[in-house]
Amino acid sequence: MSYAGHGYPLPTWTANSVGDIDFKVIKEAGVLYCLLDLDGTFTPTLSMDVCQNAVRNIQTALWEGFIRAACIISNVGVWPLAHRVSAIATKYHLPHHACYWPWPMKPSVKAFEHASALITSDTDHHKFVIIGDQRSDMEATKYGYRTILVPPLGTSTWWNSWKRKMEDDHRRRIGARFPHEL
Ligand SMILES: [Mg+2]
Repeated sequence: MSYAGHGYPLPTWTANSVGDIDFKVIKEAGVLYCLLDLDGTFTPTLSMDVCQNAVRNIQTALWEGFIRAACIISNVGVWPLAHRVSAIATKYHLPHHACYWPWPMKPSVKAFEHASALITSDTDHHKFVIIGDQRSDMEATKYGYRTILVPPLGTSTWWNSWKRKMEDDHRRRIGARFPHEL
């Protein structure tokens, strides 16, 4: 059962950062594709500064063939905020899917499927791993995706500190139940 512990979604794996993920292990588990959350995972929230270790690890994993393709997926809410996602993705030669009204946003399975369709026609959820720092990313385990929870990058800001507290609570609740660390 991938959904356990007070109804909180349980990640398949956890890692200390995107840069720490061993994509060889991911490949051996049958994962072919990667969907990567942006805010808190690849960059601090609303920042243009991408974590260089994360970039290096993703690019190496692609180069080595541990993953066939990776796509950035980010909930931006409204269309004007999609520009930042596109600018970052373009800079690092990664496809991207910005989710905004009226289209489905994470954790809707449709949002994950829309991002997946940008990199492959393969629709088998089990071949994808979702990497993220928040519960909305981990909800993907409900739909058969594999997930990796990483601690959020950067400090919380005044507009997301309440959300960060909820996320910290989530992390604490499932902390003792992590299946295994990568
Ligand atoms: Mg995030």
